[in-house]
Amino acid sequence: MKKKLLATLVIFGCLLSQANFASAASTNPFSDTNAAEVKFLYDKKIIGGYGDGTFKPNNPITRAEALVIVENAMDIHMESSTVTNFTDVPVSHWAYASIQTGVEHKLLNGYGNGTFQPNKKITRAESSALISRANKLTTTSVVKYLDVPKSHPFYTDINKMTSAGFFSGTSFSLFSPDREITRGEFAVVVARTLNPAYRVKFVNPKIVQIDAGHGAQDPGGVSNGLQEKNLVLDVSLRIQKKLQAKGVAVLMSRTTDTFLKLEDRAKLSADYQVDAFVSVHSNAATTSQAKGVETYYKTGDAKSQQLASLIQNSLVKSTQSTDRGAKPANYKVLKENEKPASLVEIGFITNEAEAAKLKTSAYRDTVASAIAGGIVSFLNAN
Ligand SMILES: [Zn+2]
Repeated sequence: MKKKLLATLVIFGCLLSQANFASAASTNPFSDTNAAEVKFLYDKKIIGGYGDGTFKPNNPITRAEALVIVENAMDIHMESSTVTNFTDVPVSHWAYASIQTGVEHKLLNGYGNGTFQPNKKITRAESSALISRANKLTTTSVVKYLDVPKSHPFYTDINKMTSAGFFSGTSFSLFSPDREITRGEFAVVVARTLNPAYRVKFVNPKIVQIDAGHGAQDPGGVSNGLQEKNLVLDVSLRIQKKLQAKGVAVLMSRTTDTFLKLEDRAKLSADYQVDAFVSVHSNAATTSQAKGVETYYKTGDAKSQQLASLIQNSLVKSTQSTDRGAKPANYKVLKENEKPASLVEIGFITNEAEAAKLKTSAYRDTVASAIAGGIVSFLNAN
């Protein structure tokens, strides 16, 4: 019993003096960064700097460098003697063993042409895949980025890394998957895998899809000198700006005079996991007497109905137009939409008075503000 206690004290003593030495020696190991995560990895001998005492946190990092750091951090070693011959990684390459190990553990793959491209800069998306695999992450959750739809090749890796609190976006709504990761960013992410204190909680942005109707060869309604495709694009772009100003991430079906199939507009909603879909159209009738605004919603869907009602009420209040109501409809963009979906008709271009108003930029701005206001009310209520 006494012997054991003594041994414990000795071990504690050693650890304490080592720890004191380490912290005294590395109060700020680098002249160009004081990030706690960088110091943490330096103290664990997982990363180093340059001969001049710098870390160069804004420099990019290569595939080989990233692999060495991750294997070092996760203590990953070669388990068999399987050798993969890459034409650009000779046995004499400084990272030869780490690259062999990385391929064995499926952390990073080579390219189809027999190369590994060890000096290629690694992107944020590739870093997610590398670190996610090294940590054998399995947990996913609802993770939305405006630039990482579910169809993105790295969506699952980015989702797992975000769910684990290891990785977050470059802004409230963007992940910037194709951007080269910096040494500083990479160090922060690796430190988070080892130390829960550095992890971050991601808050999903609200994403709204604004769908300007028609486009290109499909002009929509044409009357009184107005073309629907141009009119609704102008209003949609104004809605986009107004929503962005309120901190909402906006997915635009189109921002130019292009053509999209109806089913593809609806598919975007699911792929980007939008919180609301709003298609913008103008009305036309055989009689020039028809007038007013109306908003349609996906039949039988309460959320879609709520969205349409809030848009319609806001629009009627702001424009004082005739209220034709919020009503169900089976339009393809609504019916095939998995998200709360509505379609707003901003007025009749076949009605001379309404067309005249819609031709003025001030009125179009009022319409856009009203629709944006209705959408924000919906987001706040959900
Ligand atoms: Zn239309």
